[in-house]
Amino acid sequence: MKKLIFLSALAFVLSSAFAQEKPYTECQDSDEGFVYEADRFADIRILRYRIPCFDQLSTKQKALVYYLTQAGLAGRDIMWAQNGQYNLEIRNVCEKIYTQYQGETKNTQWRAFETYLKQLWMSNGIHHHYSNLKHQPQFSAEYFDKLLNETKVVCKDNIKKVIFDPTVAPRKVEKDASKGLVENSAVNFYGKGITTAEALAYYESKIKPEDRTPLSYGINADLVKVDGKIQEDVYKVGGKYGKALEQVVYWLDKAEKVAENDKQAVALRKLILFYNTGDLKAWDDFNIQWARATEGDIDFIHGFVEVYNDPLGNRGSYEAIVEINDFEASARMQTMMDNAQWFEDNSPTDKAYKKDKVVGITYKVVNVAGESGDANPSTPIGVNLPNAQWIRTMHGSKSVSLGNIEDANNKAGGSGILNEFAHDEEEVQRAIKFGEAAGKMHTAMHEVIGHASGKLKDGVAPSSQTLKEYASTIEEGRADLVALYYVMDPQLVEWGLMPSLEVGKAEYDGYFRNGLLVQLRRLKLGEEIEEAHMRNRAWICNWVMEQAAQESNPCVQVVNRDGKTFIEITNYEQVRTLFAKLLKEVQRITSEGDYRAAQKLADGYGKKVNAKIHQEVLNRSEKLNIPPYNGFMNPVLVPETDAKGNIKDVQVTYMDSFAKQMLMYSEQYGHLK
Ligand SMILES: [Zn+2]
Repeated sequence: MKKLIFLSALAFVLSSAFAQEKPYTECQDSDEGFVYEADRFADIRILRYRIPCFDQLSTKQKALVYYLTQAGLAGRDIMWAQNGQYNLEIRNVCEKIYTQYQGETKNTQWRAFETYLKQLWMSNGIHHHYSNLKHQPQFSAEYFDKLLNETKVVCKDNIKKVIFDPTVAPRKVEKDASKGLVENSAVNFYGKGITTAEALAYYESKIKPEDRTPLSYGINADLVKVDGKIQEDVYKVGGKYGKALEQVVYWLDKAEKVAENDKQAVALRKLILFYNTGDLKAWDDFNIQWARATEGDIDFIHGFVEVYNDPLGNRGSYEAIVEINDFEASARMQTMMDNAQWFEDNSPTDKAYKKDKVVGITYKVVNVAGESGDANPSTPIGVNLPNAQWIRTMHGSKSVSLGNIEDANNKAGGSGILNEFAHDEEEVQRAIKFGEAAGKMHTAMHEVIGHASGKLKDGVAPSSQTLKEYASTIEEGRADLVALYYVMDPQLVEWGLMPSLEVGKAEYDGYFRNGLLVQLRRLKLGEEIEEAHMRNRAWICNWVMEQAAQESNPCVQVVNRDGKTFIEITNYEQVRTLFAKLLKEVQRITSEGDYRAAQKLADGYGKKVNAKIHQEVLNRSEKLNIPPYNGFMNPVLVPETDAKGNIKDVQVTYMDSFAKQMLMYSEQYGHLK
């Protein structure tokens, strides 16, 4: 019921914000009955994600989404090949065994084999997606031989060695220069015998320091030695990975024909040109056109994008993400943008440090419709591209957060942690009803209003120079405090941005629960809090707790029950007053560049962890048995076509098992195997 009220309140906002240019019906599909979790193995949990409001798209837009997801999947094998030279062969062998074996499957050896194969699928290869270390099979080499014998699958001896010998290809990317960055990395970017020094020298000769628009040298090529001479093996149709890229181009070509507008079509044509020729100039042209194409409802990331899999940081990993604008979130952001000055004027900060004319920061929330390569099954939750700094400066960039992915993350993990750490049933119920809205409001205000607010005192340098190493945690804290202050403001209810102040209360509950307890799960015992966001949550919560402790009737306090620690808020209005007080001080610190005060806050309240509480949090979360890493299964888009093959409609369907999806992908998109 509450959700319906929320939506109809939003409908008002939608119609006022988009009355002229975007007449669409509000979407009300709910996730009731949707099962997020699909599988668990090793340290991984596999989740499904929904594509909310897909039916709101026009037929042409649906077709565009379909073609783009196909283009993404068509290149899936490239990521496997890039991650290591034996990956595709090992996958083939294991998948053949998995599908052909008729014997006993209820013993631990078979289960260990199945887990190993799922680990390969999760990381697109034999190395862990996060730690970079090689997966160690928990079944014996003898058992593997038995499986090979019974299924008559052939596996070369050197491949067996790669699987079982821990000293062969132990890590994907070596980050310790003293061990040899290229020499010691198993990633498949460098041909036999190429040294780090040779690879570095190859590009040094190309890069000209005076070039203000440098090409992304090496982004789409391996380095190989031919007759003792180093040269590039370029990823392109007719070149390296050509078989897969042909298919990618086939689908991009179809996408280009149903593009939403000219800018999008131009960008797609540049991308096709890049894949056809391998020309780095085409890659830059594509990125420029892509950065400019901001008008459509559909967007995509496609190419050799992130360079962290290359120990030298040049080669891009194949990646594809298809995005649909989140209309609801966009409407919310737009209302905030329109009222940015109201937020600035009504903030508890000193008048001297307010902007006379504030402009909200454009920030986009999108829903993912499909991912591939580097972005699947493990996915980012936000992306900021293009990577080339000069393109960002001259032509702009796009920053998106992947709303439905974050949603799936939250909902799948939610109840266990919530039930364990929430103070009482009221808090649990509030989080269930309003937690999602609270999270979205917080993110929107943090990004659109928080970072945009406030100004420096005349003559004071930017925070990076004055607050130095504390600049980022102070800035993140400042944006959080703006969000925390306003999420309890009745005006937001009046604007229809949220159904009631219960959303604000849910946000406060969650903020303390996370900042003082739950987030400690991510640290090992004895570690201090380093990461900027974790740190700002800690200093905000600890500072407010200290202030509250001085009140005769503390508005928020630590409660101990049955040997467990909880946080109880008894007076939300008063907590808001304390947030206001801290926001005022943090704005002053920023505006005046007060390094010592920043240090006092961030170090004094945000760094140290109470060892006893930390141990308790670790014990409590361990019992919940929630795997630390999530992977994602894509929905399957099924087109309906007419007699001529034109798409009439596209249905969103979900597969019931991770293994089935991975086997289907290898079968349908195994263009390099
Ligand atoms: Zn931020």
